[in-house]
Amino acid sequence: MDTVPDAGWRLAATYATLPDPLHEAVRPATYPGATAVTVNAPLALDLGLDPDRLAGATGAAWFAGGTLPPGARPLAMAYAGHQFGHFTMLGDGRALLLGEQVAPDGRRWDIHLKGSGRTRFARGGDGRAALGPMLREHLMGEAMHGLGIPTTRALAVLATGEPVQREEPLPGALLVRVAASHLRVGTVQYAAATGRRDLLEALVAYVDARHPHAVGERPVDRLIDGVLERQAALVAAWMAAGFVHGVMNTDNVALSGETIDYGPCAFLDGHDPSRTFSSIDRHGRYAYGQQPAVTQWNLARLVEAVLPLLDDDADRALAAGNAHLGTFPARYAAHRLAILRRRLGLVDADDGDGSLADAFLAGLATAEIDHHMAWLDLLRLDRDQEPRVLVGSRWSEWIARWRTRRLRDPALVENARVILAASVPRVIPRNHRVEEALAGAVRGHWEPWRRLLAAVGRPFVDDPGHAGLMEPPSPRESACHRTFCGT
Ligand code: AMP
Ligand code: MG
Repeated sequence: MDTVPDAGWRLAATYATLPDPLHEAVRPATYPGATAVTVNAPLALDLGLDPDRLAGATGAAWFAGGTLPPGARPLAMAYAGHQFGHFTMLGDGRALLLGEQVAPDGRRWDIHLKGSGRTRFARGGDGRAALGPMLREHLMGEAMHGLGIPTTRALAVLATGEPVQREEPLPGALLVRVAASHLRVGTVQYAAATGRRDLLEALVAYVDARHPHAVGERPVDRLIDGVLERQAALVAAWMAAGFVHGVMNTDNVALSGETIDYGPCAFLDGHDPSRTFSSIDRHGRYAYGQQPAVTQWNLARLVEAVLPLLDDDADRALAAGNAHLGTFPARYAAHRLAILRRRLGLVDADDGDGSLADAFLAGLATAEIDHHMAWLDLLRLDRDQEPRVLVGSRWSEWIARWRTRRLRDPALVENARVILAASVPRVIPRNHRVEEALAGAVRGHWEPWRRLLAAVGRPFVDDPGHAGLMEPPSPRESACHRTFCGT
């Protein structure tokens, strides 16, 4: 008997059937000393995989030992991207798609390795990844998942046992990543840039099958409408969570609407629309408050790429593309308002809700009030406790307005309390906590990392043990964690 039934692999390779320039077969690097340092057991079980096998020598052999899982057909995906506004042909330079795992519920998930060696797309890179950034990706992905925000997730992180040279030698790692797909805005841009209409059509048909969407006559219309809708929902969720992605290049925008590629990302402390965390984002292109506009810009690049499929006549194609894009602001506004209503503990809809929410957020920005403490204060107020950060006459007025609004319909008060309690996270991975946890983990001191990972996996649970995790950073802590740009 081979090992398929035991381990649970059911790998398909539909992406490999797409025309050639969209991907290239690669062989994963082997790391003889590799061992799993963390395995995502709940995710493994959802995928129908045995977490114990993943954690042991078999897992290391599958991902880093040259013994591919049954059905694997590793390939590097080609994609392009606007990086800080400049168009570049890219592709998986240090990553590969192992295959698509068909889970017991029939859903299909890309199994992807990052840090698996150089490919034809590596340009100057070494094809490797460092442990700290891969652990950050795991932690942030679980935090987003815990918050109910669509995201890629780590199935496992392996230490390769080999150093990678960055500014200093760092422990090397391999990330096993799971996504609804790794199709990006940049994948469509790549197909368009080849100038081959057949390639673009094949890719659009593939996306249409992989991410079915009900609205739209033709595959290209369904693709645009679906991506616009999912990205509007995603960026609205990021904004409410105070999440700053950091590198919203078009190669880091997933057509699935999942958050992808956690680099210099972080959650806000003080609510500051101009806040960035990336040391390379000198002009604040991807600052917190820029994210909705940048998303729209990225979606314009998607529409641009598929213009030839919208109409044979260039003017009519442009008009059709603009008609699609013109729907984005209203989609974003609708998702934003729906999320903020829940966050404010409002059950029904009132015309004044947008202005109530805007006044709340403007008040936070004026004094750079801690984003998460502010939301937690609403929970405290709802429980008749004193607010910690929403203090002063200006806030008394706003709070009175909020309370009046919530009491408007006495029949809904109980529901409103339930909605509020279910919408305000008790814990998010604050940046100084993430840095502290990663600094420990790479030295073999795993306790803070494990504690943080467990907490962010259950962000809506009232747990006294979370309290310390949510304290804002001291001035010293925030000063030493202002910028980073690890890979
Ligand atoms: P990222 O900034 O991680 O989204 O990566 C942008 C591009 O650079 C992608 O094409 C990556 O595959 C590639 N890349 C990043 N780091 C490396 C590396 N160490 N070796 C090879 N390619 C890399
Ligand atoms: Mg990327």
